[in-house]
Amino acid sequence: MSERTRELSPRYEPGAVEPHWAKAWVDRGYFHATSPSEREPYCIVIPPPNVTGRLHVGHALGRTLEDTLIRRARMQGKETLWLPGMDHAGIATQVVVERELRKEGIDRRELGREAFIERVWAWKEQYGGEIVDQIKRMGASCDWERQRFTMDEGLSLAVRTAFVRWYEQGFIYRGERLVNWCPTDQTGLSDSEVEHEEVDGELVTFRYPLSDGSGFVEVATTRVETMLGDTGIAVHPNDERYRALVGKTVRHPFDGRDIPIVADAAVDPAFGTGAVKVTPAHDQTDFDIAQRTGLPLLNIFDAGARINANVAEEFYGLGRYDAREAVREELHKLELLVREERPFRHAVGHCYRCHSEIEPWVSGLQWFVKVEGLKETAKQAALDGRVRFTPERWTRSYVTWLDNLRDWNISRQLWWGHRIPAWYCPDGHVTVAIEDPAACSTCAGAELEQDPDVLDTWFSSQLWPFSTLGWPDDTHDLRTFYPNTVLVTGYEILYLWVARMIMSGLSLVGDVPFRDVVIHGLVRDAHGRKMSKSLGNVIDPIEMIDRYGADALRFSLARAATGGQQDIPLSEDSIEGARNFANKIWNAARLVLGAFEDDRVELPPAERRTLAERWLLSRHQACVAEVDAALDAYLFADAAQAIFRFLWSEFCDWGLEIEKGRLDGGPQERSDAAALLAWVLERTLRLLHPIMPFVTEEIWQRFGQGASISVAAWPEHHAEHVDVDAEGVIEAVQEVVTAVRRFRARHQVAPGRRFPARVELARDLAQSVEPLAERIERLAGLEGLTFVDAPSGKLAGETTVAVTVGAVYLPPGLFDVEAERARLTKERAALDADLVRVRGKLGNDGFVAKAPPEVVAGEREKASRMAQRLAEIDAHLAELG
Ligand SMILES: [Zn+2]
Ligand SMILES: [Zn+2]
Repeated sequence: MSERTRELSPRYEPGAVEPHWAKAWVDRGYFHATSPSEREPYCIVIPPPNVTGRLHVGHALGRTLEDTLIRRARMQGKETLWLPGMDHAGIATQVVVERELRKEGIDRRELGREAFIERVWAWKEQYGGEIVDQIKRMGASCDWERQRFTMDEGLSLAVRTAFVRWYEQGFIYRGERLVNWCPTDQTGLSDSEVEHEEVDGELVTFRYPLSDGSGFVEVATTRVETMLGDTGIAVHPNDERYRALVGKTVRHPFDGRDIPIVADAAVDPAFGTGAVKVTPAHDQTDFDIAQRTGLPLLNIFDAGARINANVAEEFYGLGRYDAREAVREELHKLELLVREERPFRHAVGHCYRCHSEIEPWVSGLQWFVKVEGLKETAKQAALDGRVRFTPERWTRSYVTWLDNLRDWNISRQLWWGHRIPAWYCPDGHVTVAIEDPAACSTCAGAELEQDPDVLDTWFSSQLWPFSTLGWPDDTHDLRTFYPNTVLVTGYEILYLWVARMIMSGLSLVGDVPFRDVVIHGLVRDAHGRKMSKSLGNVIDPIEMIDRYGADALRFSLARAATGGQQDIPLSEDSIEGARNFANKIWNAARLVLGAFEDDRVELPPAERRTLAERWLLSRHQACVAEVDAALDAYLFADAAQAIFRFLWSEFCDWGLEIEKGRLDGGPQERSDAAALLAWVLERTLRLLHPIMPFVTEEIWQRFGQGASISVAAWPEHHAEHVDVDAEGVIEAVQEVVTAVRRFRARHQVAPGRRFPARVELARDLAQSVEPLAERIERLAGLEGLTFVDAPSGKLAGETTVAVTVGAVYLPPGLFDVEAERARLTKERAALDADLVRVRGKLGNDGFVAKAPPEVVAGEREKASRMAQRLAEIDAHLAELG
């Protein structure tokens, strides 16, 4: 194309531009990585969203930050891979398909396992993966040719290989353990899938009669129904009160069992009576006591948390809450009930999905990952810096979590997922294999049945950083892109996912899965509240893209992602503001492109640059340096802010305004000014491209510098452009102009009204600023600017406007001094009274303690606004003299 189109349409229309580029980039293969490669590798794997998922604002944040890093790395010439994919999401997906079936009046059990799984796949093909198209709309520069799914063939092989290797190394075992059982979903859950919440319950104290009739032992519990499954009483070995009782038995009031009193150091003698009931089948602590003291397990619940046939008949079939009442009632009748405290606040585990109370339960034999031997190396990797957390404070949380980590139950009683690769023969031998076995590995019997359970979804997602690259095969991809460079994630899955990837990567591949882990906060509303349907404050990213464009959404998210990585405030206003920013860039580009006539973007020779141009280049260099430093440290907000400030204020508001005079000048002047502005703008577009890919591409095309900005070079540094002198002079100009503008606004002087001014500056500065007098006049709306050397002082009747480098004196008669003084004095008095009132309220402990926190915060904000306004009025009055 020799005759390229320079002209930009008058308005920027993201709705037309964004889909075009999103498709063109992918079609042209810019995002496809090759391996092996001579280039330095840079790899990020996407945290795989659920196949059932829709893009929410948290995803949008993560993808924005990842794309920013990836696009910059690509522009820096690295071999860049951003690998996308989806998670099969065991429970979530199974529930969705079960619901569909129920609408048709079908129960999954009638349908049978195979037919059900076929239905899930059919559902996935038709409805799954909506989120992938949504991520594409954001402009995410993923290598879509490498898209993976945790249930695809390669990843399934990885899952089986990991299972078998860990089994052979003793890291996977089958055992009877307590699991976190959800009676509603009827599946076991890992510790991380249990949410602990305070509830108002009860604390019931009752007594067991000693079998020999010599007295009683009192125990207290929040779950009195579990006494049906008590198999012992435990006391601390050094507790003098009970020393004589250890070895004796108490008699169970309902079934007459004699149950032993044992000593165990885990009992806290200071808690309650110092004696505790032990229900090993329904409490983790009790289970551990039973393991040490040899107490038996007595399971009293079925899978739906109803009382089973193991206990006294009168309770059989009761639901757990009904059983609680019935047991309490019976104890009362037998005069064994000592005390009831209600409400008693205590923490109870809930299912993260359906919010039912979790039942610690022995659900037959299940599979576990043994974490001893895995967690130590994972911890070491963080302590010696092979994995670095940003912000650094997460290292400590990670280490503490690993220290307390227990064995991981990986059996899930579901159909949708990776079926556990273990087979059992009628003699009870276990065969674990990558390929479906034909015969028992112990007795060679051909009759084999595969374990009915599937693996926890996190078992496959923990392999994601390497299973997606071809592991267990030794592929070029794996050699090139493992370890991945960075992982970007929210803190809520630091343990569920990140820690497990580190354990499995180290154990199975022999190296950490990624070098850097960037942990971002949760996106909240502008008031810091969690987004929720009930509050009506949910921001739907797709709606925002429809309304303002993906660039606007991305920029507002990046700009809010501050370095502390606390929660991230987002409002529709901030997205709208980012859209205005895109428009501002567009308009500036129209102006520059309208004057720029060269074929190549080149700087005019140094000797033809004006002082203002030297300033602009110097500020631009500062911006490049700031953006590089910020992105190297994963400080996305700082990078976004640096570009915003440079483009909006320095380039548009000052640079273009100052250069307008030259653009209207003679041919050489005009062409030099246009070339310089084009050079700065073109490079700034490249700097902004990773955050706002679309608008930057659309404009950049007009400069004719290559096929696409997304594969253009990242801006290099020009230290020689740093110009302290020019910056000092232009800062003085900015101060003078801003001071006069503020003066106009404050005194309501009509914009069109021109007036003279005297500017007092140090002599050498005045000499540098003077040549720009005409620009200052134009920018500030002045007529007749004179420079005086400091110190000079004001003349009678003049108003002084202070600037840090000197002073500006304005002539009398621009406004009615007396009227203004009166108005301000009145406003000041009213404001002062109000402020006293608000401060009084805030000084009242009762108000601060009782009022809702957002009301208190609102009052604080009001007080600080008022104080600020008071200060303004005082400054203003001082100016009036
Ligand atoms: Zn549940
Ligand atoms: Zn066998």
